[in-house]
Amino acid sequence: MGIVQDVKDHGLGGLDHNFITGKVEDLINWSRSRSSWPASFGLACCAIEMMATGAAHYDISRFGMEVFRASPRQADIMIVAGRVSQKMAPVLRQVYDQMMEPKWVISMGVCASSGGMFNNYAIVQGVDQIVPVDVYAPGCPPTPETLIHAIETLHGLIETGEITRRRRQTGVGANVHVTEIPATPASVPVLLAVR
Ligand code: SF4
Repeated sequence: MGIVQDVKDHGLGGLDHNFITGKVEDLINWSRSRSSWPASFGLACCAIEMMATGAAHYDISRFGMEVFRASPRQADIMIVAGRVSQKMAPVLRQVYDQMMEPKWVISMGVCASSGGMFNNYAIVQGVDQIVPVDVYAPGCPPTPETLIHAIETLHGLIETGEITRRRRQTGVGANVHVTEIPATPASVPVLLAVR
């Protein structure tokens, strides 16, 4: 679409939507949102749902995320999938510290977000005490649909730059809560998201 059509459709704001006047920052955010790689890091039962999200039926490769990286230095999303024990907390923080900037965190499931039913001294009562959380995915466990919803929300925040604005405001993570989405029957194909 040409500049004239952009301006016709969007007024002066349309000047942002073409390759001559678009901002490099927008291009970087766009490419980051479509090539974010998660760290291989599962802690408990929620990790099974995270693995299912990466498998053929849900297939997060369509979001550019099929490569779960074994090295934190090649990952930029940490999905905290499961309860975090006090013993594991320093390890989790070390993995987070080893990830390259910019990096983002999804807290998957009630145990990671609040300790869940493990209200005891052995379990961290919320992973936000250890790392800054950007998106909370609810459920026990969250369905793959819910995790994909959290991932897409995160990608949207990265693409618009909203995540960095929120981080500046809060001084910690973006702190976004998504709603839970029930599982679709295995016989029903999962619809591809359109972006
Ligand atoms: S939220 Fe439920 S499924 Fe996830 S780690 Fe806790 S008990 Fe397991």
